[in-house]
Amino acid sequence: ERRTDRPRHATVVMCGSAKGGVSKTTSALCIAYCLLAQGSKVLLIDCDSQGSATVHLGYSPTQMDQMEVERRTLYYALADDRPLADYIIQTPEPRLDLLPAFMSLADADVELALGKLAPLRQRIGEVRNQYDFIVLDTAPNLGAVTVSALEASDLLLVPCQTEALALVGLRNVLHSLENLRRRRNPGLRMLGILPTLFSARLTQDQATLEDLRRGYGDRYRIFDPIPRATVFAQAAASGVIPLAAVKNIPGRAVFEEIAAAARAAAKEMKAHVA
Ligand code: ADP
Ligand code: MG
Repeated sequence: ERRTDRPRHATVVMCGSAKGGVSKTTSALCIAYCLLAQGSKVLLIDCDSQGSATVHLGYSPTQMDQMEVERRTLYYALADDRPLADYIIQTPEPRLDLLPAFMSLADADVELALGKLAPLRQRIGEVRNQYDFIVLDTAPNLGAVTVSALEASDLLLVPCQTEALALVGLRNVLHSLENLRRRRNPGLRMLGILPTLFSARLTQDQATLEDLRRGYGDRYRIFDPIPRATVFAQAAASGVIPLAAVKNIPGRAVFEEIAAAARAAAKEMKAHVA
């Protein structure tokens, strides 16, 4: 690790939706990886008490239990007042750091709402000058932790499964997210909607993709779909997703495009500030 680091000002990218199983975690990891591959220094913050992103980066439940015992997960970062850097782990992947989460974070929804925890934005502020991008993987709900993540974010990507009826759910999710944005973080920009788990052979999936483009294409950028492919599940099972596997995954070009879009938006926002 080079320590001749220039000062940075991280752009915070959130991967979010109130729905589960839509490839939020997978997308967050793939985008983080593409940002790394483009030379950025990245902090991934796991904002889900299920700890999927932490698991995907190769940490076992035993190791995660140990992190909890040592009070080194996101919940404790919000509850205790050690410097944020104390909670951050260097992953084996160069330039990728992780702030892990696990079961303790489940208590944060109530405690954040009661004002007992530090808002994520405040904590992130401490390390913003050390990263180019901070990627937030969020839980499948719009609880206080997710809202806190939203308040801390500059850019939002909403993954959406291309199955039948997905658009009914998406309509609700976007409605809630837009309301939250208006009230809590008007500066938040929508990066776009990412259609996921797409089976090109299924006419139903194609119809859903069409509907998505027709219904939302005027307001949001709709990225090309990420195909449903077993390599994602296999990589997840082996605990190496997607850092090693992502090089060969179908849809890599799309993740690269999202990373590039995040980079462009970051540049634009910084020009605005300067
Ligand atoms: P979320 O974070 O929205 O709950 P995940 O990223 O954890 O979603 O994905 C849910 C499940 O689907 C995981 O088992 C993951 O490995 C699998 N998965 C994600 N994306 C794909 C894909 N493009 N093709 C096949 N399986 C996928
Ligand atoms: Mg997840």
